[in-house]
Amino acid sequence: MPLLYYWRGDNHRRDLDEGVAYHLNHRNPLLHSAQNGDSLWAFTRAEGGAYSLAAQLVVSGRTHNPKDHHYGPYRLWGHLNHSRYFQVGAHNDVEPIIRMLSARTKARHLGQSFQGMASVRALTTQDHQLLTKFANALPLEPRAALLPELPLEHHLYLDDEEQLEAWLNTRHSGIAPTRRRWLIGAVTRNRKLAPQLQNLYCGRCQICEWSPKDLHDVYACEGHHIQWLSRSGSDALENMALLCPNHHRLIHKLDGHFDFQERAFVLSNDQRLKVQLDHHLPSGGTHG
Ligand SMILES: [Zn+2]
Ligand SMILES: [Zn+2]
Repeated sequence: MPLLYYWRGDNHRRDLDEGVAYHLNHRNPLLHSAQNGDSLWAFTRAEGGAYSLAAQLVVSGRTHNPKDHHYGPYRLWGHLNHSRYFQVGAHNDVEPIIRMLSARTKARHLGQSFQGMASVRALTTQDHQLLTKFANALPLEPRAALLPELPLEHHLYLDDEEQLEAWLNTRHSGIAPTRRRWLIGAVTRNRKLAPQLQNLYCGRCQICEWSPKDLHDVYACEGHHIQWLSRSGSDALENMALLCPNHHRLIHKLDGHFDFQERAFVLSNDQRLKVQLDHHLPSGGTHG
């Protein structure tokens, strides 16, 4: 089922500045009724006052957030190649289209109809077609360019700010300046976190328990960022998992997301990779 979401203007602008997330959190369980391949259409209010279409997330997965997550227990992930972020502004007034959709909105100020739980609505196939037609004429938002996650993590482990900065400068000019500075700072933070994570698990993979430290006296497992750094994830310990290189590659190849309720990585083919060792990840569960 396609969905419509009203994205508060300040949250939308922050998302663009801090690294486009390609996912949405909410406390309305309706979010999880969207299946893989369905679209979630997000509209927002531009600073000038007009309503604009902001994004089309083509769903690639659903997970549960850590308990008491600020934005609610449900998360919907957008497919990295098929989802689109649009430039918000003067040539993108979506209000007449939103008022034509089956989710009738009579309020004088459109945003008033989309508060709280009601900021997520179900759409019909016809609504989806109407939005698709409108969206096809819109320019894309340049700040929504994604960094490739594996090379980004690789540069982090090289422990070298200059190399990371050179890599960011050569090929990834679309990254917002705030996010660029934050990413370069991540090298210093990672220097402390990586050994902490290795110590917590004696170097073992949290999924298969492969133990290179016991077998060969080396640390060969890798710190993975559960919410990818390229999708505005943080470099805090609770956003990291220790994985063997095989499981790490698999999770990146199949766009795996950790479900805090199931305690497993959910892959884009809907398979699960259960976490066996778990001493530090926040507990899951719905709230309120
Ligand atoms: Zn493993
Ligand atoms: Zn990773």
